Amino acid sequence: MGFILAACNNFRYKGNAPQGDERNSQLRVCLLASGSRGNSALIEADGSRLLIDAGLSGVETERRLSTIGLTGEDLHGILVTHEHHDHVGGIGPLARRYDLPVHLDRLTHASLPKLGKIKALHHFTVGETFSFQNLSISSFSTTHDAVNPVGFTIESSEGKIGFATDLGMSTRLVAEQLKQCRVLVLEANHDEKMLQDGPYPWDLKQRIRSRHGHLSNNESCSLLEEICWPGLEAIFLAHLSEENNCPTLAVESFRKVLGDCGLTAEIIVGQQRQASSCFNASAVMVSSI
Ligand SMILES: [Zn+2]
Ligand SMILES: [Zn+2]
Repeated sequence: MGFILAACNNFRYKGNAPQGDERNSQLRVCLLASGSRGNSALIEADGSRLLIDAGLSGVETERRLSTIGLTGEDLHGILVTHEHHDHVGGIGPLARRYDLPVHLDRLTHASLPKLGKIKALHHFTVGETFSFQNLSISSFSTTHDAVNPVGFTIESSEGKIGFATDLGMSTRLVAEQLKQCRVLVLEANHDEKMLQDGPYPWDLKQRIRSRHGHLSNNESCSLLEEICWPGLEAIFLAHLSEENNCPTLAVESFRKVLGDCGLTAEIIVGQQRQASSCFNASAVMVSSI
């Protein structure tokens, strides 16, 4: 762990910009909504702004964007993790209104008969890396009760962002993919005891804690233990259950893991009713080519 963060950041910021180019750039991550009633994340890096999932209505997504100083016009595309209703409701309206390309797996697309016509629809192959403007995006398989669910990593000159929500368990593949991220978005769906003692019917409890359900605070903390490194600056806790989790409890668990790793990364909790705080990092990108 003899790693110097400042040196790492300098290296990253100077990595990919075109020769002679010096411009202000921003790395920004924000959960516009997170939870079983709608999920959508804004990722901004190297001048591109993407939504990962759009589970709110188009109108509500725009309202939340406005709270962080953006409009639909500022978006450049949408990535889709899986077809569950809490991730997809706003995709069609936003894509049509703002002419946004939508990137998703072919099977996921086939499971969305109500998506409507999208002008720029791109099927990615899970496991492959594709370019989006200056970003390099990789998808990886997750275990969840959807047809072909994925998580994403987004690599930019300003660092790597890892995104994994809606997964019943972490796998070696997931941990491998999420290594060396500057910002992580990890599912912290439930506290195991609150779920056990809570009001859900037995079969729903079973579904949530199954290998194809959702990640508990403990499981997510174990994943973080595997992948924490000195370059991690922020972790977003996502898809928290309103019935079976408590933000304070979740934050405490993650803070302990970060402490054990010797890190002081920021912890930001995604919320259902409003956009979360944003992780924001500005940098001057300078050419090295
Ligand atoms: Zn789901
Ligand atoms: Zn979900």
